Amino acid sequence: MDYGIKGKKAIVCAASQGLGRGCALALAREGVELVINARTAATLDATADAIRREAGVAVTAIAADITTPEGRAAVLAACPDPDILVNNAGGPPIGDFRDWDEAVWMKAVNDNMITPIMLIRAVVDGMIARRFGRVVNITSRSVKSPLAHLGLSNGARAGLTGFVAGLSRQVAKHNVIINNLLPGPFATDRQVDGLRKLSAKAGQDYDTFAKARMAEVPAGRFGTPEEFGRACAFLCSADAGFIVGQNLLIDGGSVNSTL
Ligand code: NAP
Repeated sequence: MDYGIKGKKAIVCAASQGLGRGCALALAREGVELVINARTAATLDATADAIRREAGVAVTAIAADITTPEGRAAVLAACPDPDILVNNAGGPPIGDFRDWDEAVWMKAVNDNMITPIMLIRAVVDGMIARRFGRVVNITSRSVKSPLAHLGLSNGARAGLTGFVAGLSRQVAKHNVIINNLLPGPFATDRQVDGLRKLSAKAGQDYDTFAKARMAEVPAGRFGTPEEFGRACAFLCSADAGFIVGQNLLIDGGSVNSTL
């Protein structure tokens, strides 16, 4: 299937590994030129090389913290007029809400709500002028089904989701399409790190704990960044112009609901 985005330009944030990398690779395979970002230059450069080798597209790597104004400015300077924006950043830590003071909450809201909104604000008028834009925000299943140990994610991402619900309907008539992708459990470093902490808290070894979590997923496994990336690429395709302001769960059926 031709996604109709060959030669388009994309910014993919937080993309040296995990879900962001999956999105970058899937877009590159569709012939999209990339600006990818993460904080650690060595990992990011290695990912940029791997994507260039595999997909043969131009990939510019900008090592910067996307949650800072300076980091966002550096990424936007490398690609001031993207056709596609994939918003992503590290997720907030797991824990108990009693331990989170105002500074912790402000960081979660900055990283997972304000940062994607500032990036959308910077690029959306250009997309409107060019009559093509695709924005995908990587959020979490916690938006639809709160996770007790992820209160910071439940809260901060809900703010982004509410904003996107409104804005996506304001800009859709210009063929600027904004949607959210809600990952469930994916086999990424973040997921493994979180499971290690939870298994230690439960007094179980990691392998037993992880297998039990997998068994709870109706698909019987964790997802892969590659399949997450392919869903992202579809939402960025020319054919996705009538999918507006949706929150698509990619979770192997983990959220148990009819709608
Ligand atoms: P991951 O495997 O830990 O990868 C995170 C990526 O983001 C890395 O490339 C990392 O590189 C980069 N990054 C982190 N903070 C950054 C920052 N401030 N500025 C720029 N780049 C940054 O994580 P993941 O599992 O792919 O998760 C991605 C997002 O999805 C997170 O928000 C997470 O909470 C959410 N999510 C994941 C799952 C899951 O199962 N994996 C489920 C629900 C939600 P550097 O460290 O070098 O910056």
